[in-house]
Amino acid sequence: MVLSIAVTNQKGGVGKTTTCINLAAELGRLGYSVLAVDMDPQGNCSSGLGIEADAVNVSLYDVLLGGASIQEALVATPWEGVSLLPATIDLAGAEVELASIISRETCLRRHMAKLDHYDVAIIDCPPSLGLLTINALVAAQKLIVPIQCEYYALEGVGQLARTIGLVRDCLNPDLSIDGVLLTMFDSRTRLAHDVVEEVRRQFGEIVFSTVIPRNVKLSEAPSYAKPITYYEPASTGAQSYTLFSREVATRWLHLKTKR
Ligand code: ADP
Ligand code: MG
Repeated sequence: MVLSIAVTNQKGGVGKTTTCINLAAELGRLGYSVLAVDMDPQGNCSSGLGIEADAVNVSLYDVLLGGASIQEALVATPWEGVSLLPATIDLAGAEVELASIISRETCLRRHMAKLDHYDVAIIDCPPSLGLLTINALVAAQKLIVPIQCEYYALEGVGQLARTIGLVRDCLNPDLSIDGVLLTMFDSRTRLAHDVVEEVRRQFGEIVFSTVIPRNVKLSEAPSYAKPITYYEPASTGAQSYTLFSREVATRWLHLKTKR
């Protein structure tokens, strides 16, 4: 694995899963070999990439706790360049079951280290700071935090930063918030502009230039089990996720920007 990127924020509904699905699909279209890792028991990243729980024989739960190999859990998706480590609802039990095993925080990292034919992994985190998220933070080299352009946008970010600090001190020395993505921007509201300004002031250069607009096509795409660029390529949602993914590839995967 050349690079692993976790998308994290313990707040629910901020666009983590949407970002993982569409970043994975776009990096795949750019020619990278991508592994999407679904660490949320809800399995929305898996279903959004077209892999329903019924079709999953070996899931991430089986890898973390059931003795299955990580290779057994890999599934191909219909999208160019994208494979998936799927989650099913039994992953919810892992939060508790992991507590009693040795090196419980490094479980995902140790398994992922066995994979060497991917350029990049995108890890979708659950909306909590429990052991599943800790495993993702330990396995990641880069962190992207999506922030919704709404009331209480920065609520919980301090707590997230403290957790990241603890993981950095004990288990992953280079860990920090490397990217902040503004999501669900509604240009008509004053509040959304204020949030953008405040987040850029607080986080500076790590905030991606691309802001993801609120776009109904983005909320429809999961029910068609498609990434946005395959579902509605002309939508503003698709265009913004394409630009954002190019930014990620330029920053961290040495993509040469087109002239
Ligand atoms: P999280 O994974 O952080 O809980 P999701 O990505 O699942 O957040 O997004 C929460 C809900 O909002 C989902 O129903 C999703 O389809 C929708 N959504 C996400 N991003 C956008 C957007 N930019 N515009 C409109 N709807 C969005
Ligand atoms: Mg999610």
